[in-house]
Amino acid sequence: THGSDAVLLLETVNFAAEKHRTQRRKDPEATPYINHPIGVARILSHEAGVTDVSILQAALLHDTLEDTDTSLSELQSRFGPVVSGIVSEVSDDKSLSKAERKRLQVEHALHCSPQAKLVKLADKLYNLRDLQRVSPVGWSEQRVQEYFVWARDVVKGLRGTSPVLEQKLDQIFTQRGVHT
Ligand code: NDP
Ligand code: ZN
Repeated sequence: THGSDAVLLLETVNFAAEKHRTQRRKDPEATPYINHPIGVARILSHEAGVTDVSILQAALLHDTLEDTDTSLSELQSRFGPVVSGIVSEVSDDKSLSKAERKRLQVEHALHCSPQAKLVKLADKLYNLRDLQRVSPVGWSEQRVQEYFVWARDVVKGLRGTSPVLEQKLDQIFTQRGVHT
């Protein structure tokens, strides 16, 4: 039943959709959360030219460990060591405070595998585009701007991975007046 790339991707997006089914994004329209992982995978395929199915699967699953009841062993048994390894690399440690997690993302970016760096670049690009479109409910302009500055610091550790994605991110930082 997992005989083709297409079937594998459908299994993966279905798993992610079930896991995120009750969640919404922070935009005023409360967009279904699953739009985000699908959009991140689509940035990789459509904009970065990624065809490695394991990386696209990891993109579809990238927020399941962090934001749902999914365990690493569940990902390992369903999707194998390569996909679950990438998802693990891009996931924050949920036992830490929000501030500590944000600080560690900047530090850990440098030490990620190239596959994990690709997923992280696409994740940041998607989230920054989302913020450019409309501010999340309850966010001040200052908080939005602080997010761009923090994202710049994370992206610094991801460079040398995808010239296309890095150029698109740089364009956004420049538009925001955030120096790279
Ligand atoms: P974030 O500030 O990290 O929220 C942003 C995250 O939400 C994104 O990384 C993204 O993560 C997800 N997300 C969901 N919807 C959207 C959307 N529409 N646009 C962009 N991103 C979206 O998390 P918290 O809300 O938990 O805040 C924690 C941190 O925020 C604290 O460490 C604190 O420093 C700071 N803070 C700043 C304030 C200020 O006024 N400056 C006030 C309060 C907190 P994903 O890819 O995982 O979906
Ligand atoms: Zn994400």
